[in-house]
Amino acid sequence: MQSGKKGHRRWTWWRCNILNMNAAGLELRLSSQQLCGWRSKDSVVMQSWVEDTLACPRDGVSLSLKGDVLKCPEGHEYPLILGVPVMLIDEAPPTHGAIRETLNQVTGELGYPEIGDPQETRQFVQDMLGATCGHMYQHVKSLQDYPIPRFPLSPEFAGATLIDIGSNWGRWSFSAARKGFRVVAVDPSLRSALAGKEIARQIGLPVSFIVGDARFLPFKSRTFDVAFSYSVLQHFSKSDAQLAIDEASRVLRPDRTILVQMANGRGLRQLFNRLRQQVKADTNPFRVRYWTIRELNAVFEQIGKTSISADGYLSLNAQISDIDILPRRYGFLIRFSEALKGVAARRPILTEFADSLWVMSRKRAQDGTPGSPPET
Ligand SMILES: [Zn+2]
Repeated sequence: MQSGKKGHRRWTWWRCNILNMNAAGLELRLSSQQLCGWRSKDSVVMQSWVEDTLACPRDGVSLSLKGDVLKCPEGHEYPLILGVPVMLIDEAPPTHGAIRETLNQVTGELGYPEIGDPQETRQFVQDMLGATCGHMYQHVKSLQDYPIPRFPLSPEFAGATLIDIGSNWGRWSFSAARKGFRVVAVDPSLRSALAGKEIARQIGLPVSFIVGDARFLPFKSRTFDVAFSYSVLQHFSKSDAQLAIDEASRVLRPDRTILVQMANGRGLRQLFNRLRQQVKADTNPFRVRYWTIRELNAVFEQIGKTSISADGYLSLNAQISDIDILPRRYGFLIRFSEALKGVAARRPILTEFADSLWVMSRKRAQDGTPGSPPET
C-alpha cells in the first residue's frame, strides 16, 4: 500500500534532556535506555546516542540536521522520511532491489510505504518470513505475534551497543534488545524500516531504524560493541560481502565482537541447493552464495581471532523458537538440527556439514595486539 508525503512534516527534531522535558510537563514514554531524539508526537523514533554516531556514508564526516534533511559539510544530503533517516547512496550497483525501490520513494517516483496497523504489520512480517528465513517459512501459519528468536549473545557490560546489519523488520534487532543491548537496525528497505519502527512502538522495545547499505554504513568508526548480521551477507557476491565485512569491522570498537551467519557450501542441504542453482543457471542477484569454512576463516581472521560453529542443519535457518508457527512436519527437522548442533559443539567435525554457520571474530585491540578469544 502506498501513500503520499502527507504527515511527513509532523516529524520534528528535538534536542533536550529528560529534566527539561519533565519540567515542561510533557508526557514521555521513555525506558531507561531511551533519551530524547528525533521524535514524533507519539513515539521516540531515534535514541540520542544513535544521533551522535551517524556519519555521511560517502565520506564519514559528521552530519547536521536542517529541516528534515541531514547534511554533511561536503553537500551530501539524506532525508528523514517519517522520522527514519534514509542514508543510501546511488553511485554503487545495488545488492538488492530494495535499494532502488527506496531511492525511488525518496525522489517521489513511488509513494512512501504506509505504516500499518498491527494486523497489517503482522501480515508484512509473515510475508518477509517467507521471503527471508528459508524454505520452511513459506508455510508459516497466520501470525498472532511477532516471531522473535533467542539472541545468541549477552551484553558484556551494561549499555553495550549493537548494530544489526540487514535487519529487515528487526527480527534479530528486537531479539538483541530483549537481551539488553542498545540496538540500531540498518536495512536498505524503507518499507521494512518503517514496519520495524511501528513494531518497536507496538512491543515497546527501543530499537532505532536507519535505512542504509551494508557496504557504506552511515556511522562513525569504532562505534559499536557488537556487529551482527543474519541471513544477509550469505546473499552478497563475495566482493560485496568483503566490503560489508570491512564496514562492519570499521564501525566496531577494538576488542569487540562481530557475529555473522553465513551459508556453508558443504552443508547437507546446500549441496542439493547448489546443484539446483547450477541446473537452473540461477542469476538472481540475491541468490545464496556459498563459502567454505576455510574461506570464511581467511576473511574473518583479518579482523581478529575467529571461531566458526554450527548454526543449524537442513535449512537457512529455522529457529527452535518458531516451531509453533511452522507446520508440524518441520518440527522433527528443527529438533534434529538442534540435536546435531549439540553434538557439533563437542565434535567440531560435524560443523563441516552444517548448512548455516556462525562466524564470530574478536576485533584486534587498537595497538594491533590480538583481541581476546571470541566466546563460544
Ligand atoms: Zn558527505
